[in-house]
Amino acid sequence: MDKTIVCKDCGAEFVFTEREQAFYESKQFSDPVRCKACRDARKAEKAAKEAAQQPAE
Ligand SMILES: [Zn+2]
Repeated sequence: MDKTIVCKDCGAEFVFTEREQAFYESKQFSDPVRCKACRDARKAEKAAKEAAQQPAE
């Protein structure tokens, strides 16, 4: 069954589909707490930080 989760960051509801649940289970990930937009934003932020820490070659 699809689950509706409230995003921890922005408070928006998002659907955690059965298919995603199966994927997460197979990877032994815990349920997501953030919507896709927030996850993408965090990912981008992390990538930007890492890029800033590494001197350009
Ligand atoms: Zn969000």
